[in-house]
Amino acid sequence: MKMRYCKHCLQPDTRPGVVFDDECVCFACRYEESKVNIDFAQREAELQAYADEAKAESKKRGNIYDCIIGVSGGKDSTFQAVYAKEKLGLNPLLINCMPDEITEVGQKNIDNLNHLGFDIISIRPNPIVARKLARKSFYERGNIVAASEYCLWASAYIMAVKFNIPLIIQGENAALTLGAAKNQEATGNAFSVLQLETIRGASVDSFVDLSNNITEKDLFLYKIPDVELMEKMGIRAVFLQYYSKEWSQVRNADFAIARGLTGRSDDLHDLGRYRRYTALDSDLQIPNQMIKYLKFGFGYATDEVCYDIREGRLSREDAKWYVNEYDGLCGQKYIDATCRYLGIDEAEFWRVVDGFVNKDLFEKKDGRWVKKFTVGEDYES
Ligand SMILES: [Zn+2]
Repeated sequence: MKMRYCKHCLQPDTRPGVVFDDECVCFACRYEESKVNIDFAQREAELQAYADEAKAESKKRGNIYDCIIGVSGGKDSTFQAVYAKEKLGLNPLLINCMPDEITEVGQKNIDNLNHLGFDIISIRPNPIVARKLARKSFYERGNIVAASEYCLWASAYIMAVKFNIPLIIQGENAALTLGAAKNQEATGNAFSVLQLETIRGASVDSFVDLSNNITEKDLFLYKIPDVELMEKMGIRAVFLQYYSKEWSQVRNADFAIARGLTGRSDDLHDLGRYRRYTALDSDLQIPNQMIKYLKFGFGYATDEVCYDIREGRLSREDAKWYVNEYDGLCGQKYIDATCRYLGIDEAEFWRVVDGFVNKDLFEKKDGRWVKKFTVGEDYES
């Protein structure tokens, strides 16, 4: 197999759905470059027009709320909520889909957002079902959080339909941020999250498992309502990232820290990343990034350096150190907690993970997986 790196950042072409051009530059870098030519004043005006329309429409429908925002209380959702309220002048209803076994810091952050002056509805999906789904996706896909991500996405759309609210403000479009433009259109339309399911060929129905007592009914909170129905109801869904010039991972974090966001206090080597303000509400995301690293040859630290390179904070050369130092790491306590959650012992955990490791990219030495490639250099096995 071949693994190529983007010539601008350190993104490898092993990311599912990523687009590289003829010069071997990734779509996310090209989008970042193109931003100097984007008329953000015009985009922001367009978003303000949607917001004004939503306010008028809400009034007509007799609604209290003008828009829905799905929130975790993390950096992005804090930015979205404050932006909607203070900049766009909307009265947002925040929907928090609470992860099973929410972390202390996650709970603190959702409380913080609440205390900034927002109404929040917390949704707590059935934990027995959530655990079965985590096990199923771990065994079948080598991904512990695949099912819970459906729930995170779906909750805002479900509640928009239930409350008849005309506008949904989502944060980030992965096509723009990560360059995964084969999976999803690179626009501001947040109904495109459904394209992710279609193209991956894995709609939420694939989690139905009658032998394990998971029925379609159990997945109600995991399923985005029909887009045609939402459009007919006059519901619009947008990605704030597309419209706001200010949107960036690091800037959102600064913005949210100034408003009370708490980060993780771990050794960064236990987190496999070098910033403290991502993946705050669930510990399962940390071993999940480690597994992703073993499947595709990159983990969360790679994503972080790519943001830093594109936004001019790191050179491609300097970034390699961060990737070599932190990528793919996961503290033992997170592996222990994951095993407890999944109801398996550590030997079983590694037996399953080993099955998903890309053996072209990694080899086992003294019982540990070691990379065969060099970060930043095209590799062929
Ligand atoms: Zn790139």
